[in-house]
Amino acid sequence: MNTNDTVQSYIDGQYVGDRIAKIPNICPFNGKLLNSIACASDSQIEQAISSAIDAFTKWSSMSGTQRGRILAKVAQLIREHSESLAKLEVMETGKPITEARTVDIPSAADALEYFAGVAPTIRGDYYDLATANVFTRREPLGVCAGIGAWNYPLQIAAWKAAPALAAGNAMVFKPSEMTPSSALKLAELFVQAGAPAGLFNVVQGDASVGQKLAAHQRIAKVSLTGSVPTGKKVMECASQTLKHVSLELGGKSPLIIYADSDLEQGVYGALIANFFTQGEICTNGTRVFVEKPILDKFLERLLAEIEKIKPGHPLRSETNMGALISEQHLEKVLNYIKIGRQEGASLLCGGDRPHWSSDQEELAKGYFITPAVFSDCTDEMTIANEEIFGPVMTVLSFSNESEVIARANQTSFGLAAGVFTKDMQKAHRTVNQLEAGVCWINNYNVTPVEVPFGGIKQSGLGRENGLAAIDHYTQIKTIYNEMTNIEPPF
Ligand code: NDP
Repeated sequence: MNTNDTVQSYIDGQYVGDRIAKIPNICPFNGKLLNSIACASDSQIEQAISSAIDAFTKWSSMSGTQRGRILAKVAQLIREHSESLAKLEVMETGKPITEARTVDIPSAADALEYFAGVAPTIRGDYYDLATANVFTRREPLGVCAGIGAWNYPLQIAAWKAAPALAAGNAMVFKPSEMTPSSALKLAELFVQAGAPAGLFNVVQGDASVGQKLAAHQRIAKVSLTGSVPTGKKVMECASQTLKHVSLELGGKSPLIIYADSDLEQGVYGALIANFFTQGEICTNGTRVFVEKPILDKFLERLLAEIEKIKPGHPLRSETNMGALISEQHLEKVLNYIKIGRQEGASLLCGGDRPHWSSDQEELAKGYFITPAVFSDCTDEMTIANEEIFGPVMTVLSFSNESEVIARANQTSFGLAAGVFTKDMQKAHRTVNQLEAGVCWINNYNVTPVEVPFGGIKQSGLGRENGLAAIDHYTQIKTIYNEMTNIEPPF
């Protein structure tokens, strides 16, 4: 079984795993050892795939309504366990509990609920031809692998599992080694809801486990949420068997604030686009382009609002900024602050480690950083080009619409973008030209399950959420039905 000190894999409805090859799992907000992960062995990976194949045979022969009923039950169980799941997520990610309660857990439940409703509606098409009729079936792919990042562990697992299972597939999921636990709870809830054991298996481990899944002959599809370099490696592994691939990768998204926007709304938008989950959000609008006439007022108002951000103990309800995921990641983000200054940007606030009062001493060993804003930035600077994945906003100024659109698109990423303006014609003109998979007008980082989500360019392939996700977890079979006698061919 899973013990407090060893996190195992969950295969075929039970915990498996030995006590060797342990990876330490550290709590981000106090640096203490939370538990250690028993890496899935090769034979356990095989076992997980075999059990998923057995579950697939049962699950794919059930009706969409039957499958949907079980997915809806999982959604209900997630909501019933919301508080314990939120705490688990906080312990391993370091994010504030208020966010885990209001975003991470409900978003996972929403995905199960939405795709529970979609399951009975999945169907093919019908074509009338001269002497034949043709219909298509949307069939599941088989056993799909999900590989998750550490910033939204439960949400990522649910966003992959819900459409995959709704379409009749089974899934073997590998969470990030830094956030191994919540996917296990999800796996338990699937079994509790009546899903066949093995329908959603969790294998623990590092990149090598992900690689094995991506390359495996018996895995029909791999869906990764992670960085661009990992996406390239996963695609390369997947090419060995030409399996289907979905990639949800990184970004350096632009947020454009035109001078005619409501200033306060633009400031709120920039805050939403940069500082939730300590800035560890793939879609974050970290390049904030502000039109020159309002730049000074924008910065003044922004800095006043940032005063309200309080890093603190993530389990306290009053905390609105948590700790970065690891010491290594903290060092990386601090290094970007150093590079930003060296390259001539002005650091207007933050970018250092907070000082703690004596009653919060344990947090001194956590990986906290205060929210940072750079101004006087240019497009060439490192901080305006590389994904930092921390609470670091880069403010750039611009003079006109065509200039800002061209500069916003000057990146190999294409995940998201935002525009703030009261002029709706300009808003639509702008987003139509922005090279991004998701664009928000007068809002930012809203990702309801009903609408497709995903990137273009090097930010990814495929879509999660919405009906579009089903396209990526099914394959089309065409069935041609001749209605006349065929002639002798020779
Ligand atoms: P990584 O790319 O480092 O890891 C993602 C997952 O892939 C982890 O489970 C990791 O395992 C695994 N992995 C690493 N190398 C390989 C490999 N060669 N083959 C197979 N699997 C592998 O990303 P992070 O976890 O650090 O997450 C941050 C990144 O994720 C950022 O770039 C961010 O933008 C992106 N992201 C994208 C989202 C989107 O929806 N577009 C949403 C959230 C994050 P392990 O952790 O055990 O090494």
